Amino acid sequence: VTKHYEYLVIGGGSGGLASARRAAGRYGISAAIIEGSGRLGGTCVNVGCVPKKVMWSASDTAKRVSEAKYYGLDVGEVPKFDWTSFVEKREAYIRRLNGIYERNLQKDKVDYISGWARFAGGKGQKIVEVSLLSGETEYYTADHILVAVGGYASVPDDIPGAKYGTTSDGFFKMTEQPKRVAIVGAGYIGVELAGVFNGLGTETHFFIRGDTVLRHFDPMIQETITDSYIKHGVKLHKEAKAFEKVVRLPSGALKITYEDIDGKSEVEVDALIWAIGRGPNTAGLRLDIPGVALNKNEQIVVDEYQNTNVPGIYSVGDDIGWLELTPVAIAAGRRLSDRLFGGPNFKDSKLDYNNVPTVVFSHPEVGTVGLTEPEARQKYGSDNVKVYNSKFIGMYYSVFDDQDKKESTVYKLIVAGPEEKVVGMHIVGDGSSEVLQGFGVAIKMGATKKDFDNCVAIHPTSAEELVTLV
Ligand code: FAD
Ligand code: NAD
Repeated sequence: VTKHYEYLVIGGGSGGLASARRAAGRYGISAAIIEGSGRLGGTCVNVGCVPKKVMWSASDTAKRVSEAKYYGLDVGEVPKFDWTSFVEKREAYIRRLNGIYERNLQKDKVDYISGWARFAGGKGQKIVEVSLLSGETEYYTADHILVAVGGYASVPDDIPGAKYGTTSDGFFKMTEQPKRVAIVGAGYIGVELAGVFNGLGTETHFFIRGDTVLRHFDPMIQETITDSYIKHGVKLHKEAKAFEKVVRLPSGALKITYEDIDGKSEVEVDALIWAIGRGPNTAGLRLDIPGVALNKNEQIVVDEYQNTNVPGIYSVGDDIGWLELTPVAIAAGRRLSDRLFGGPNFKDSKLDYNNVPTVVFSHPEVGTVGLTEPEARQKYGSDNVKVYNSKFIGMYYSVFDDQDKKESTVYKLIVAGPEEKVVGMHIVGDGSSEVLQGFGVAIKMGATKKDFDNCVAIHPTSAEELVTLV
C-alpha cells in the first residue's frame, strides 16, 4: 500500500470536492481526492451547469438584443452569433475554474491524486487501486472512503444508427454551430439545450415521448414551457416514441426516420443529441470487492446518512441517483464530513432532501420547490389543498409593439391545511431562477400564505405578485 489516509474520496466533482475540503480544511483530517479525468470540478464545472449557463446567457442575450428596438435602441440587424470564438472563451473560463479548484485543494491540504480508481484485493477488502494518468499504479487505504463518481449520459441501444448522435458531452465539444439539430428527451437537459439552440438561431427539432416537456414538474410548468417553445419556433415533435433509424448521409448530415403525433416522417439534421437521462459511473469500480450494494439501475444504495451497506464506505451525488443537482451533492458531501469528523455536535448531521429548490434554464426560466399540485392533492387530500394562480405580462414587455413578442409570467402557489402552509411553489418567467432562492428559504422554514402576505411587496417587479396572491 502506497499510503493510508483518514479520508479518501473517489471523484473530484461537486460532491467529492466539497466533502474532502470540509474534512481537511475545517477538521484537519488527512484526506485525498482521486480524479480520473485530469481536470477537477466534475460534470458541473466541465460539461454541465457552468458551460450550460454560459450558453444560456448567450442565448438570453441574443433575445434581449432582438428586443432592443422596443426600447428605442437602434442596433440594426441583430448580429450573427460567433459560436466558434465564444466556445473558446467559454472553455478558457472553465480552465481557469479547474485551476481554482486545484488551488483550493492545496489551500485546504487535500492531496490530489490524478488517476482512475477502483477497488482491489480480495473479497471484503477496502483497498483502492489507482491507475495514475502518469502510467504507474498505486494503492491506498483509508478509515473512511467516499464514492462520488457521478454519472454518464445515456444513449439508446435499440435504435439503428443511435451512435451517430451525441450527448450533452458532445454538445460542449461542438466548435461550430449546427444549422439544424435534433434533441431527444423532455427533461432538464433536453429543454435547456433546445432553448439554447433555438435562441441562437439553429433549426431545432425537439422529440418528446409525451405531449408536454418536463413531465415530472407541475402541470402548469409543463404546459407553459411546451406552449412557449412552440411559440418561439422550436419544432416540437410530440408523442415521438422511438426513432426507426438514424442514417449518416455522405454529406455528413444525419437522416432520422421517426414517427410522431403527425405520423411517420423523416428529417435531416447536422447533429443529434440524446438527452434521455443519466446513469451512474459505477461499472468498473469493482464495488463488489468491498461488497457495496447497488440497485437495479447500478446506483449505490445508501441510507439517509449517505452510508452504504459496508461500514466506512459512503456515497453522495449523482451515483446514488436521488436528486441529481450540484448543490445537493455539495450539501450531502459537507454534511457527511461534518458527521464523520465534526465531533458530537454534528453526530446526526445529514441532508434533508425535501423542499430542494431547482430551476430549469429554459426560455423563459422555470423555478420549482416542493410538491406539484397532483402530489399535494394526493398527500393532503384535495379538500385540504388550495391553489393560488397568477398569470400576467411583466412590465418589461409593456412597451413592445408586437403583441406576440410579449412573454407571460405564470406563478402558482400550493398551500395545505387550515394554516395554509406553502407546500409547493412553481414559477415560469424572466428572472425565475433568481427569484426562487429567497422563497426557497421561506418555504424550508415552513412559511404559510399569511407569512408571504406579511412581507411587503417590492415594486415594480414580477416577484411581488408572489406576496399579493388572492
Ligand atoms: P460529478 O460532478 O460528475 O463528479 C464525479 C467525478 O468523478 C468526475 O469528475 C469523474 O471524472 C470522476 N470519476 C468517475 N469515476 C472515477 C473513478 N473510477 N476514479 C476517479 N475519478 C472518477 N445541476 C445543477 O444543480 N444545476 C445545473 O444547472 C445543472 N446543469 C447540468 C447540465 C448538464 C448538461 C448536466 C450533464 C448536468 C447538470 N447538472 C446541473 C447536474 C450536476 O452537474 C450534477 O448533479 C453534479 O455534477 C453531480 O456531482 P457529483 O459529485 O455527484 O458528480
Ligand atoms: P431527465 O431525467 O431530467 O430527463 C430525461 C428525459 O428523457 C425524460 O423526460 C424522459 O422521459 C426522457 N426519456 C427517457 N428515455 C427516453 C427515450 N428512450 N426516448 C425519448 N425520451 C426518453 O434527465 P436529463 O435531462 O438527461 O438530465 C439528467 C439530470 O441532470 C436531471 O435529472 C437533473 O437532475 C440534472 N440537471 C439539472 C439541471 C438544472 O439544475 N438546471 C440541468 C441539467 C441537468
